[in-house]
Amino acid sequence: MASQETDYLIIGAGAVGLAFADTLLDEDPDCHITFVDKHAKPGGHWNDAYSFVALHQPSAFYGVNSMAFPGEQIDTHGPNQGLYALASGTEVSAYFEKVMNLRLLPSGRVAYHRLTEFKGRDADGTARIAGVLSGAEQTIAVRRKLVDATFYQTSVPSTHKRAFSAAEGVRVVAPGELPDLWKTPDNAPRDFVILGGGKTAMDAGVWLLEAGVAPERIHWVRPRDSWLTNRKFVQPGEDFLGATIANQMAHLEACAAASDGDGLFEHLERGGYVLRIDPEVKPEMFHFAVISEGEIALLRQITQVIRKGRVTHIEHGALHFGGESHAVPEGALFIDCTARAVPFTAEANAGPQFRGDTIVLQPVHVPLVTFSAALTAFLEVHYADNATRNQLARTAPLTDRPATFPYAFMMNLMNRGTWSQTPEIAAWLAKSRLDPTGPTITRMMAAGDPRLAVLGGFREAVMQAMPHVIRLGMAAKALHETGGPPTN
Ligand SMILES: Cc1cc2nc3c(=O)[nH]c(=O)nc-3n(C[C@H](O)[C@H](O)[C@H](O)COP(=O)(O)OP(=O)(O)OC[C@H]3O[C@@H](n4cnc5c(N)ncnc54)[C@H](O)[C@@H]3O)c2cc1C
Repeated sequence: MASQETDYLIIGAGAVGLAFADTLLDEDPDCHITFVDKHAKPGGHWNDAYSFVALHQPSAFYGVNSMAFPGEQIDTHGPNQGLYALASGTEVSAYFEKVMNLRLLPSGRVAYHRLTEFKGRDADGTARIAGVLSGAEQTIAVRRKLVDATFYQTSVPSTHKRAFSAAEGVRVVAPGELPDLWKTPDNAPRDFVILGGGKTAMDAGVWLLEAGVAPERIHWVRPRDSWLTNRKFVQPGEDFLGATIANQMAHLEACAAASDGDGLFEHLERGGYVLRIDPEVKPEMFHFAVISEGEIALLRQITQVIRKGRVTHIEHGALHFGGESHAVPEGALFIDCTARAVPFTAEANAGPQFRGDTIVLQPVHVPLVTFSAALTAFLEVHYADNATRNQLARTAPLTDRPATFPYAFMMNLMNRGTWSQTPEIAAWLAKSRLDPTGPTITRMMAAGDPRLAVLGGFREAVMQAMPHVIRLGMAAKALHETGGPPTN
């Protein structure tokens, strides 16, 4: 006999599990939820983040539905000037702690097993969990569903396993160690080598430049260049609705004009909707990272870019890329930004979210992972069978490349179409803070705001573009499913 009982057992108290639970509590006034998580605190990977990490999207539509971030104001200085604030990693961790301690646990309907690992289920469905430190095992009878909130398998530099080796004495650090360099001024490195082409590497580059390191002292191993979403087109609120809709319209036009994903991005770049650091290099990566024009301007100062693929070994004064090598200054500090964040290639565990008595939380609008989890909770409560729930929110892939992105865009658009035609979902979106436009449009409609005119013709534009979206999307789906290059 199990030692405890619950309705929903959620594996993972990261952003995704918390967003799911938060909406489930509101939508189902009777259910009981139990979390099991290996970390000591809620918030998942945000507990392991480098100190200068920040959200790359505005805080206004991140987290859980019921709680706003403090200080959702417009930045008045720095490279994000004029745009909505991005919570720092510390703020995100504090936010998720508040979600657990001030919202979920006080409901009296949530139990939280921290520092505890999910070990599996017995044949009768009873879940087994074990304390990470104590090893003590407990059993939980799950009355309704097991919720797997670990699909994204988030990997960050401080905890990932490096895929390269380094000779004795070579200094390799995670980005989180950079702010500690002031403690050993006599041993401060003269030169820096950033490893990796993703958003973490960009953050490290911006950090070094803002710390006063001369650009010529920074070398950057970029296996692939990336397209980046221009942050000024993904902003919340009335003042930015025009830009948001212009961005969506541009995506539709790009689908009609382009013959493949690469062409789609070239079209978007002409309107400034996507950015790249080096205008001479064709990006082979798109991981949905969001950046400001200010950050791009800073990063363009770093011109010593090494494009030889992924590093396999580092020795004093040289980087090795399989058979090839590249000289770097002796004594340089290597900054490991090669963790893959979330998986951008087709995943074995991908598929419908609702599977018998298990829910595997996945994106249904890429890249809005917490929004997707909250919507999934709404579907769980308000629809009776898994087939309907899955059909109302088909999973959308986290694609890896410009060539495969149209698949994600197609799935987003198809889901949005379904939701707009399902009145109870449309009503929920209209008040969901995690939906970038829903509450804004609701407020503007209530106020009779004339700026809503930007929506005129949007629905027709979607209908007209849909055949092109499907043409590109299906070709991209085939590419996505046959695999792709490594992710950073
Ligand atoms: C640096 C960085 C910045 C990002 N910025 C943004 C952003 O601005 N906007 C955005 O939308 N997304 C962003 N992302 C994407 C990010 O992955 C999500 O926002 C989100 O935090 C992922 O949450 P999660 O709950 O899926 O994963 P995690 O944070 O990894 O949480 C999963 C939890 O599950 C636990 N767990 C796993 N297996 C078990 C087990 N067997 N037993 C018990 N517990 C288990 C882990 O301990 C962990 O706490 C960012 C990602 C990174 C790495």
